[in-house]
Amino acid sequence: MADTPDVHSEAYNEPNPSSLLGFAKGFGLTFETMFRKVYTQQYPFDFYPTQPRYHGRHVLNRHPDGLEKCIGCELCAWACPADAIYVEGGDNTDEERYSPGERYAQVYQINYLRCIFCGLCVEACPTRSLTMSNEYELAGDNRQDLIYTKEQLMAPLLPGMEAPPHPMRLGSDEQAYYTVRSQEPFSQGEPQSTANVAGKPLTTRAIEVGGHHG
Ligand code: SF4
Ligand code: SF4
Repeated sequence: MADTPDVHSEAYNEPNPSSLLGFAKGFGLTFETMFRKVYTQQYPFDFYPTQPRYHGRHVLNRHPDGLEKCIGCELCAWACPADAIYVEGGDNTDEERYSPGERYAQVYQINYLRCIFCGLCVEACPTRSLTMSNEYELAGDNRQDLIYTKEQLMAPLLPGMEAPPHPMRLGSDEQAYYTVRSQEPFSQGEPQSTANVAGKPLTTRAIEVGGHHG
């Protein structure tokens, strides 16, 4: 049986130099911190920008004539590891056209209760419809509000854009929409509004239509 130390002995109660040093170090750090400049961000009264490549909420972008870049292919939904995206494709017709080509997204939802902002959906998108903005104010007091609909995710209409449905304006077939020239994103001036069609405010980065980052 191991010897039990005698807690009443003189040797036991003598201060241990190594633990005294530990105390001094610990309190030294406390004192040092007390005299440092306090750095407090007054959020939400002051809004602090993120790094440019911050992965915030998504944006569904438009072509320069206002047609939607999303073709309802569901590749983003398949790529999503959190099963956060729901897409239902629909057929464009000559009378009712939302995107160039055959299909468009009739229903598009992102569930921000599930999204982990990994950006894999953006990588998977073949038309560069889906990008991520720097918008980080994603909080709500109920679950329903955090399932964003297509109307909330669509980029606002810029000057020169026309709200779909409408015919293809950039050419007679969809190929015209995928040339470098047709996708010049910043030549259209300021957006008409800093809110999207659902009235959700967007930060400057979120309205940089075509400003892709993965
Ligand atoms: S960022 Fe990641 S988790 Fe969020 S919707 Fe895209 S793929 Fe899914
Ligand atoms: S956002 Fe891109 S990947 Fe997703 S359905 Fe639309 S076109 Fe396809």
